[in-house]
Amino acid sequence: MGDVPRRGGVPRRGPGFCVAVKANAYGHGAARLAGIAFEEGAEAVGVATVEEGALLRDAGIEGRILLYSIATAQESPLIVELGLEPFVADKEWIEALANASGRRPDGAESEKPLACHLKVDTGMGRIGCRPEDAGELASLIAGAPGLSLAALCTHFPAADVEDQSFTREQLARLDEALSGISRQGVHVPAVHAANSGATLALPESYRNMVRPGIATYGYFPSHDQRRTLELKPVMEFESRVAFVKKVYPGETVSYGRTWCAGRETVIATIPAGYADGYNRLLSNRGEVLLFERTGRARRVPVAGRVCMDQFMVDCGPDSHVAVGDRVVLFGPDRRGPDAEELADAIGTIPYEVLSQVNARVPRLYL
Ligand SMILES: *Cc1c(COP(=O)(O)O)cnc(C)c1O
Repeated sequence: MGDVPRRGGVPRRGPGFCVAVKANAYGHGAARLAGIAFEEGAEAVGVATVEEGALLRDAGIEGRILLYSIATAQESPLIVELGLEPFVADKEWIEALANASGRRPDGAESEKPLACHLKVDTGMGRIGCRPEDAGELASLIAGAPGLSLAALCTHFPAADVEDQSFTREQLARLDEALSGISRQGVHVPAVHAANSGATLALPESYRNMVRPGIATYGYFPSHDQRRTLELKPVMEFESRVAFVKKVYPGETVSYGRTWCAGRETVIATIPAGYADGYNRLLSNRGEVLLFERTGRARRVPVAGRVCMDQFMVDCGPDSHVAVGDRVVLFGPDRRGPDAEELADAIGTIPYEVLSQVNARVPRLYL
């Protein structure tokens, strides 16, 4: 949207940013990250549920909040009250919102129409109207007294691969929808589409605003895209050694006795487990970065099964590990694993590793 004001008042040329802060900002803490996003010049933030939007409003976030998923009709009055900007894709949802927005609790008409984002399915197959139906739905929104059309948008299922031909086809379908709407005489104030994959690789997809998520948290959406710039992971998941002991050949560690000492060694217990978001599939597989008081930082492997609240690591026979030593489960330090390495080890993606970090884990913002 032309000149975007940045912190310090220096205008930046280019598209606006809508930063995804759904799923507790991919585990980072939604309220704090939304605040930072707006300080850094974001035009909006994106949530998946009405409750996530309510949490942000309760935390004092006053900026624009886009609601990426379709909610229920029962939630529409709350959407209006919170001033969320919902994605819409069918007549029923538009009518539910129009009903809620047309009426205030005192019966009077709302002064401010609810800004809706018409979502076109150009190939994601999740939510969205068909491109040929966009014109009719846009007219419906424009004609509803309580609603306004804020933007036309879509989503890409394969923008994080080297070959962008499918994403380009999607952009053509988006343009087709846009012309359909113009033919109905409805003005479209903005268009947005790009997730992290497209933001990193396809400037022609930017339109008025980009909607990255994972890239803002320092990870690439996939391995299948050329990495033309460096991203630095934002989150460091750390803990402290809670207990240290020696084990002797033949002794086992943790549930199921899947790890057995083949030599005398030093085992440290870490007070974090799968309920904190350290995936149980990392049993006998993960590695953590251990900072011994001697100043040494090195990787040590998980020994045995990860429990709900604790897991053990094998520090080796000569270790000087002590209670209170810092361990990094994943983070930006190149000597240790990052969320992508852990994701690769257990067959998932960094999105899942990050968003699984449970709410009980204290977040410190440095
Ligand atoms: C989650 C989401 C995004 C961000 O996706 P990333 O791959 O994390 O960049 C953008 N748009 C919509 C609609 C989303 O649901």
